[in-house]
Amino acid sequence: MPELPEVQTIVDDLKKRVTKRTIVDFWTDTPKLIKGFSSKEFYNQIVGYFITDVQRRGKNIIFILKSKNKKKYSDMAMLVHQKMTGHFLIGEWKLKKEGKKITPIPQTKGPISSDKYNSYIRMIFYLDNGAQMALSDLRKFAKVVLIPQEELDNFKDLKNLGPDVFSKKFNADYLCQIFKKRKKAVKPILLEQQVVSGIGNIYGDELLFIAKINPLTKSNVLSKKEVAKIIVSSKKIIKKSLKLRGISSSDYRDTYGKRGGYDKVRYVYGREGMPCLLCQTKIKRVKIGQRSSYFCPHCQPLK
Ligand SMILES: [Zn+2]
Repeated sequence: MPELPEVQTIVDDLKKRVTKRTIVDFWTDTPKLIKGFSSKEFYNQIVGYFITDVQRRGKNIIFILKSKNKKKYSDMAMLVHQKMTGHFLIGEWKLKKEGKKITPIPQTKGPISSDKYNSYIRMIFYLDNGAQMALSDLRKFAKVVLIPQEELDNFKDLKNLGPDVFSKKFNADYLCQIFKKRKKAVKPILLEQQVVSGIGNIYGDELLFIAKINPLTKSNVLSKKEVAKIIVSSKKIIKKSLKLRGISSSDYRDTYGKRGGYDKVRYVYGREGMPCLLCQTKIKRVKIGQRSSYFCPHCQPLK
């Protein structure tokens, strides 16, 4: 699932590539991704809107939309959660009809057409400069919601989001208070979006490695100093991955269809049986809840 660095990379790309553009047409063959509207209603709503900004909140992408005809529509926000395998691409596709089936065929050369992870096109937004913004989503779990802009802050998916990793509110005092109340392994708590928004399974492992804390250690036994290390490590690891445009060990690609660079520098995630980069001990994998966690048993002893 795209986490903060991947979502932010896409948002930064989209800011440059689609703001100040008007949506002139729309196509989808997967209307179930759109919540609250039929695809026809969605089409009628979205076409004609001008994209004034693209923002990130947690792992959500938010398009701020203005109507050119103010009397007809109010300002809207389109919220997209890419979930497991969704990612936006900017390119050009032609719709090929075969009987009832319509397949978008990429006309853009390079990774967009050569990498199969860019080929699961579920919706296309056509823009007034001739560009197309498409959502590729292998598993079809992405979520697209259109809401009046003034309702954005109170929207259920955003209202309960915890502070962002980069926010000053995400500090040792704040996290200590949460950790003291819980008697659960530290890793799954860090993945709860109401505790801190933007961290997922990959960076949860990476930041705990840097902080030298075992993912199974119970949160209430950690000292304030150790909690402070978690905070510093989170910001450090997310910043590092952002610079490298995210991780593509799974299906994430940027808006050019290109892979992120963090795969090559990861410490523990997905490295079971391989030597720790600091001490050569073999990296271990454990299941916590339903998900795999990777750690170095020597650098991250259980407390
Ligand atoms: Zn080690």
